[in-house]
Amino acid sequence: MDLVKRLEEYRDRERELTWEGTFAQYFEIATKQPSIAQLSHERIYNMIMAAGTDASRSGDPRYKFFSQEIFGLEKPLQQIAEYFHSAAQRLEVRKRILLLMGPVGGGKSTIVHLLKRGLEQYTRAQEGAIYAIRDCPMHEEPLHLIPVELRADVEREFDLYVEGDLCPHCRWMVEDKYGGKIEEIPVKRIAFSEKYRIGIGTFTPSDPKSQDVAELVGGIDLSTIGEVGVESDPRAYRFDGELNIANRGLMEFIEMLKCLPGSSLLFTQSGIRRLDSFAQSDHPAGESRSVEVQLASSTGVETTAHLYHAGVQPTKRVTTRRGYVSEGTFEHRIQVVNNEGVQVWRRHDELQVGDWVVMQKGQNLWGQDVEIQWQPKRPILASRIKTPERMTPGLARWLGYMTGEGDTRPDGTIRFSNVEEELRADYCQLTQELFGVQPRCYQKVVQLNNVALLDLLDYLGFKTGAYNKEIPWSVLQSSRECVLEFLSGYFAGDGTVNLGGRLSWPLPRSGWRNKCKLSCSILVW
Ligand SMILES: [Zn+2]
Repeated sequence: MDLVKRLEEYRDRERELTWEGTFAQYFEIATKQPSIAQLSHERIYNMIMAAGTDASRSGDPRYKFFSQEIFGLEKPLQQIAEYFHSAAQRLEVRKRILLLMGPVGGGKSTIVHLLKRGLEQYTRAQEGAIYAIRDCPMHEEPLHLIPVELRADVEREFDLYVEGDLCPHCRWMVEDKYGGKIEEIPVKRIAFSEKYRIGIGTFTPSDPKSQDVAELVGGIDLSTIGEVGVESDPRAYRFDGELNIANRGLMEFIEMLKCLPGSSLLFTQSGIRRLDSFAQSDHPAGESRSVEVQLASSTGVETTAHLYHAGVQPTKRVTTRRGYVSEGTFEHRIQVVNNEGVQVWRRHDELQVGDWVVMQKGQNLWGQDVEIQWQPKRPILASRIKTPERMTPGLARWLGYMTGEGDTRPDGTIRFSNVEEELRADYCQLTQELFGVQPRCYQKVVQLNNVALLDLLDYLGFKTGAYNKEIPWSVLQSSRECVLEFLSGYFAGDGTVNLGGRLSWPLPRSGWRNKCKLSCSILVW
């Protein structure tokens, strides 16, 4: 290799990249090479196509731009290329965000990485050259300087399509600094660079409470506001958000979505419900459907937009020393307190033993007491018991007793064991009031035999056996009062838990295993 020659070539290229001139000169260049004024989707599409294509064995096109580093993803890559193709033709689809969703290690970040690095190189090459108004914080297309009235003529005569208006900063500059003489406005060639924050932005969501929208769109600049006097002056505004700097290029949003197992419990307007209870049974993996649920989140009650079914994915379960459980995919984030005592979001797979996990308590979103619409499997037997019309605090407490220390047998035997006479008496009285059935009392055990009541218990969501214990759906979806009554019945036996009227979630006892279905769903909000 001839180093001196290579260095000379390099310097020549760098010189080209440092081109600076006036708008009049830029317009000359643009008329000769209209591609320098192409919009971002078109630039990316042309970049992908410039690397060439060949046909895969199945006859589908394979894009060499990706195929050096990504294997076996022909179909998704084709969809991505098609998206850029349609968007390059300025079809509606260009207004949408391209969402890459898939398992960890599935190539999503490699695709984005290739696009970013590709753009950095492409904008340094002649065919991908791009210019901007010199002092514009958003690296604006200089053709924006052309007044709207002249644009149609420019497009017809020079094949230069102009879209968009001057940013406030440039409008101020044109009027106040150059007296409206747009031909003199300085223009320079730029090259996209993630490092120097030109044309490529990256956004990682952090704590939604402390996150400032300024990180995306910029904000008031307190250091200049004293000089310019008023907030409305464009010089008092910093156009340095990630969306500003990504203008004309590419913006990556990392981990925008929340992914939880279907068994996760959510506080909703229809009570505490499993995440998968919002999915329709025919919801296929890899698709999203719109779901509107009022949901308690860390910033108050919010409405969900979509439920995405991500199929079977590996999950990681975290148990705190007090027995609270959080389960999610590896990239699912929860809040922890870092070494400086600041709350930060951390991925599940980055959590370490000893980390402090932030938990939200006092979420106050509850359902109405559910109506009991029991269709007896054996209607003749059903007439032998009274059926409550809806969930009541008494029924919830009775279910709490049963979940804590009750068990059933298929022959209709329903038993409750407790050493305290007072509790056994309360259980007996509730059984009588709720169902019109009088149980038999033995030493420390209360027992009855009723197949109809067994069926009703099943309908209400009661599960027998120490390993099946879960809070019945009929309680979860009811009012706060009923959930508390259930818990007071459940905890009555050991007498050590003082709820103080406050309910924390997830499960209060590590012995309550939430059956993991290994299905993963995503709620976007
Ligand atoms: Zn501008």
